[in-house]
Amino acid sequence: MTEVIDGKAVAADIRESLAACIATLDDEGVEPGLATVLMSDDPASETYVSMKQRDCEEVGIDGIHVEIDPDAPAAELYDTIDELNADPTVNGILVQMPVPEHVDERRVLRRIDPVKDVDGFHPENVGRLVAGNDRYRPCTPHGIQKLLEAYEIETESADAVIVGRSNIVGKPLANLLLQKADDGNATVTVCHSRTEDLTEKARNADILVAAVGLAEIIDAEMVTDGTTVIDVGVNRVDADTEKGYELVGDVDYDAVAEVAGAITPVPGGVGPMTRAMLLYNTVKAAGLQHDVDVDL
Ligand code: NDP
Repeated sequence: MTEVIDGKAVAADIRESLAACIATLDDEGVEPGLATVLMSDDPASETYVSMKQRDCEEVGIDGIHVEIDPDAPAAELYDTIDELNADPTVNGILVQMPVPEHVDERRVLRRIDPVKDVDGFHPENVGRLVAGNDRYRPCTPHGIQKLLEAYEIETESADAVIVGRSNIVGKPLANLLLQKADDGNATVTVCHSRTEDLTEKARNADILVAAVGLAEIIDAEMVTDGTTVIDVGVNRVDADTEKGYELVGDVDYDAVAEVAGAITPVPGGVGPMTRAMLLYNTVKAAGLQHDVDVDL
């Protein structure tokens, strides 16, 4: 029987555990604060940011939102980051990507104080993660680790095959699963658009993670009996719905669910975990900045 991994339920458990940490911070007079910065009029980015703000409100994190005109000079974004870096009520800063073309994304990531970098994308935090001394684990890979842990899916000695090598999903996940740690110790293969024989590599996986951004690229032929399949992808495809589209993952869910040992649905799998882990990192950041042991 294929186990359907319920990301919503695991995310709800994590939010609940954060409530105790937030109470500990409150006892010390600290209210965690997350600043979101949006320099875009892309509706998807607007939706992501408003969901993050709503999540903050629900768990008792002070959400601060800054909007910058996408046509404004890049300096306006850098100045905003400097102000948020200096603001003691702000523990975490998240600049919603992508930023407009005239803004240097790498410079934005470097500008954020690494102690407030709750996305975990600052080069200092990336370096720490690679060195096995992480401060903030990037939200999506960390969420995937938490899903595996919740369903007691062993990473120890497992063959983990990750399709996708982005800086936000594929690479950090590869590093995390590779760590000499209880939630690591996997043998990791990272595949990408230049990989040859993807099917053969995917079929070797005990844990197969798809983070590509191509609807249903992972089909049943690429999955062997009992494999755990984690679908990160979120893709819009035309459909006969009110909105004219529906969201599907990178995995052909119905066909792969016939063979997989466990599988995440889209929606309701990795997505809710990404959101929960941002709250987790913000609470952790507040604890670090105020020297309060929040027990995370
Ligand atoms: P990127 O576009 O940054 O990376 C996609 C990766 O897929 C690249 O490494 C690319 O290879 C690889 N790729 C592209 N085509 C193929 C192919 N035919 N075969 C094998 N590999 C291929 O995407 P992201 O990592 O940012 O996101 C991936 C997906 O996950 C998207 O759908 C995104 O919306 C979703 N996502 C979902 C999140 C969630 O919380 N659920 C969070 C973050 C992302 P190459 O490097 O060679 O170009």
